[in-house]
Amino acid sequence: MNDARERNGSRILRGIGASPGVAFGRAHLVGLDKVKVLRKRISESELSAEIERFRKAVFQAEDEINRLLAEIPEELREHSGILQSHLLMLKDKMVYDRAQEFITGRGVNSEWALSMVLEHVRGLFEQIKEQYIRERIKDVEYVICRVLRILAGESGEGLFDLKEPVILVAHELSPADTIQLSPDKVLAFVTDVGSRTSHTAILARSLGIPAVVGLEDITSTVLSGENLIVDGIAGEVIINPDAEYQESYREKQDGYLKYRLEVIHNSHLPAETRDGFRVKIKANMELLEEIPTVISNGADGVGLLRTEYLYLAHRELPSEEVLYNAYREVVERIRPYPVTIRTLDIGGDKFISSVSLNEEINPALGLRAIRLSLREPGLFCAQLRAIIRASAHGNVRVLFPLISGKREILQVKEYMNKVFSELQAEGIPFDRDIKVGIMMEVPTAIMVADILAQEVDFFSLGTNDLIQYSLAIDRVNEFVAHLYEPLDPGVLRMIKRTVDAAHDAGINAALCGEMAGEPMYVPILLGMGIDELSMNALDIPRVKRTVRMVRYEDCVRLTNRVMEASTSAEAREALVSYLRSAFPREFDSAMGGHSDMAGMEVSRSIS
Ligand code: PEP
Ligand code: MG
Repeated sequence: MNDARERNGSRILRGIGASPGVAFGRAHLVGLDKVKVLRKRISESELSAEIERFRKAVFQAEDEINRLLAEIPEELREHSGILQSHLLMLKDKMVYDRAQEFITGRGVNSEWALSMVLEHVRGLFEQIKEQYIRERIKDVEYVICRVLRILAGESGEGLFDLKEPVILVAHELSPADTIQLSPDKVLAFVTDVGSRTSHTAILARSLGIPAVVGLEDITSTVLSGENLIVDGIAGEVIINPDAEYQESYREKQDGYLKYRLEVIHNSHLPAETRDGFRVKIKANMELLEEIPTVISNGADGVGLLRTEYLYLAHRELPSEEVLYNAYREVVERIRPYPVTIRTLDIGGDKFISSVSLNEEINPALGLRAIRLSLREPGLFCAQLRAIIRASAHGNVRVLFPLISGKREILQVKEYMNKVFSELQAEGIPFDRDIKVGIMMEVPTAIMVADILAQEVDFFSLGTNDLIQYSLAIDRVNEFVAHLYEPLDPGVLRMIKRTVDAAHDAGINAALCGEMAGEPMYVPILLGMGIDELSMNALDIPRVKRTVRMVRYEDCVRLTNRVMEASTSAEAREALVSYLRSAFPREFDSAMGGHSDMAGMEVSRSIS
């Protein structure tokens, strides 16, 4: 990405709009991964001073973390586990004692000693079988980088430690970094790497923080304190905007806010086309704090509860009780609507952090999601018990990620039956008819959708991964992000095939990838007969509005035309000509950049 333009000292950088909204503010560079470590010899006589220097830096780091902990707003308190674990790690023997041993034993400076510690700990973690524990190396890296920055004499300001609201500029923010961002202090964020369907981008949308990712080198272009405008709708960042830019982006910001108010106004009306076709519009949820947003945006329930973040927020594996209480809270607050709880989907991009160095594994094809759960029955059964117990308190559906074929479903069912018998024997209430679904996101699963449909109660299409795996494009890699193409004829056929197989077997087909939240794709999905769309709660109003504006009959005609396309360009052409006639007003404003109705994809596709 990143084609830059200049005018009167203002520069525009183009990246990928990852979370909509327009923000104005000062840049704040976070460079956790940019600490340079030099080796210095420390003579015998300097050793005690060096040890003192090291200890002081650790104390300062402790102080910083304690301050951050004290400042975490009440609503985010349950996520403070990450920081608490950092405090413990600072004084862990493996870090604290070892670093001092290296300083004295090898006569090296604190920085070098810490980097040796990091190498050593990395080696130990790599041998750990359980991926979840192995991935905690990211926390060790994070903590060591904090001390390194203090030693390097930087301010030590962290992601939380912001004096005033700023725009964060980072090489990369991991999902773990992102859950620490408070929308009060972070006006927007922009990163060198990333794509729209990465989990970091998904979280930004959940938190309502505008974001532009995939800017390639914004961290070396922008200086802390420079004025920025972030346009998360068009994916642009303006550095040192002149008066003219400021004025036009203020207008765009106003237009966007007005547009949102207008669409939210009708968001509690049912999602029904003008000729009576109904579709369920549900919310994807990551954090408990999102429940009020889910309700206020008019969701017909939670179509995807991603459960990874509870694991990220705790230092140790969360107990069955902790999980049960969290799920129960969601279920009770969303009742009478259903909640689809997906079992753990870690691996992939979930643990990539800003300090990740030289990782040579291929996590997207690794021990991710259901594969990890099936290899760690203790972890899996604790979560299954928590989900199934929560079913006693409302309408719960359980969803399994990354299923590639029938064998995995049979294995999963065995575990479910085991949990059913245990709970029954223990006299713990649960819903024996809990509905079971699978994510349809691996191409082989799509090819055998007819077989899988006999085994489960519903399908949920995970187009983020389906597109990643079928078009072979890493969903977190900005260099191939432009190849992400929901309108690829192969992708469209896979979606259609899944919906048809579900209906032939008498079960429902949902779609919960980011594609569901893009209004421009909604008419095609309706035309395929999709039963449910699940998306970021903030996308619900505009998607519902789109559904209410179209005719199912027209959508079917459009879908038939689009399905005949032999290239994505042809499919897009058919879609654009339909959108232009069905939504003249939105189409014009999307072209003027004031609306996210069709998003920049429409404007790009015809400009
Ligand atoms: C998907 O893959 O489309 C999906 C909804 O799941 P996730 O983004 O969590 O992988
Ligand atoms: Mg997925």
